[in-house]
Amino acid sequence: MKKNILKKIEAIVGDAHLTTAREDLMCYSYDSTGMEYMPTAVAFPGSAVEISSIMELANKELFPVIPRGAGTGMTGGSLPIQGGLVLVMSRLNRILEVDVENQVAVVEPGVITGQFQAAVKKEALFYPPDPASRDFCTMGGNVAECSGGPSAIKYGVTRDYVLGLEVVLPDGRLMHTGVRTAKGVVGYDLTRLFIGSEGTLGIITKIVVRLLALPTHKKTYLVLTDSLRQAAMLVSEILKRGILPNTLEYMDQTALHVVREYLSLELPQSTRALLLVEVDGDENSTEEQGESSSECWQTGGHTRVFSRSDRLIMRRKSMIFGRPGAPFLRLHINCGLTRYPRMWWCRKQKFHSSLILPKSSPGSWVLSSSHSGMRETVTFMSISWWTRITRKNTKKVKQQKDCYLNM
Ligand SMILES: Cc1cc2nc3c(=O)[nH]c(=O)nc-3n(C[C@H](O)[C@H](O)[C@H](O)COP(=O)(O)OP(=O)(O)OC[C@H]3O[C@@H](n4cnc5c(N)ncnc54)[C@H](O)[C@@H]3O)c2cc1C
Repeated sequence: MKKNILKKIEAIVGDAHLTTAREDLMCYSYDSTGMEYMPTAVAFPGSAVEISSIMELANKELFPVIPRGAGTGMTGGSLPIQGGLVLVMSRLNRILEVDVENQVAVVEPGVITGQFQAAVKKEALFYPPDPASRDFCTMGGNVAECSGGPSAIKYGVTRDYVLGLEVVLPDGRLMHTGVRTAKGVVGYDLTRLFIGSEGTLGIITKIVVRLLALPTHKKTYLVLTDSLRQAAMLVSEILKRGILPNTLEYMDQTALHVVREYLSLELPQSTRALLLVEVDGDENSTEEQGESSSECWQTGGHTRVFSRSDRLIMRRKSMIFGRPGAPFLRLHINCGLTRYPRMWWCRKQKFHSSLILPKSSPGSWVLSSSHSGMRETVTFMSISWWTRITRKNTKKVKQQKDCYLNM
């Protein structure tokens, strides 16, 4: 990028908000894929108007612009593969409106998801999308990746809550999509087009989301089983009964081993799998769902342990980080309701043989955990994996792949 272009960008955002210093650029050269590409410059715009001017300039001078939230993405979307200008959304971090009566909020893209959830909770409202990275990822990044977490099984993912967007298009034009009402069915659904577009179609500068009333009650169960298959059968059983937990996560034995070691989790050595089940709602429905779920594991003769929800969910999430410094291979699986028990067969038979997944190298572990019973993928099992065999060896073994098995 030529010096005169950098001068023009500086004139738009102000010299305090543009950097070309190598040590600054390095901070924005990677995301959670572990890959690194140095940008030419990094800018921190303070408004949609500034972004619009930058995009006009980029369109004229033909330099790449890469929007970036917190850089926790696992798809490489915020990486400046061809250099260019990284636009960091950290200054666009205001919650512009929480309309309690209409259960709608308007936020800027740089708002941290967890902070937004905490803010609406104060008004007895609930914003459900809960990526495990919510304490540091941004609302803009969530929209661009259509993020979701454990509660997706009941509450859905980001796309189910975005009503409208303000977007700066690649040529600098400002565009508004969607509505701020529950129903908005007229015309093309352009909002959805931008959701999951990973910054390729435009830069999101405002997000309108719908909110729910905060569930008043919650019950969390930790179910220990003697085999993975038993855990899988339990998932099917819970869902067949019409119970819709807000969390239904499993961890296999190796995953448990890692968590136990990392967080001093006390579990019997004989445990082969763990199912984390959380139900929520008002007092009566929570009680009812809790009782009904309990019947599933009581009749199956499983061990059941009560625990505080926050601690458990934190432990499940902490697994995503793995065991710091240790070699490991991570595998996440989402699959459809009816295919769930069969997934175990597939996991065992195929992952280590015919699929491209490399054999676990000596001293590394295969962990597996999952958001169970995702309804959107009833006919497919979507498998994504990525490896992190210590930073030193990353280049040799790094893989990221989505594989779809028709089951
Ligand atoms: C520990 C950990 C746990 C995670 N858990 C989950 C999980 O449970 N569920 C899940 O879905 N994901 C998860 N992720 C992945 C990641 O956190 C999400 O994809 C998140 O939404 C990325 O947000 P971000 O702010 O970090 O975006 P970034 O990584 O900065 O960017 C992601 C993409 O969004 C684009 N983008 C960012 N801001 C804008 C904008 N304003 N306009 C247009 N495009 C934009 C970028 O160009 C890029 O393509 C996890 C990641 C980590 C590291």
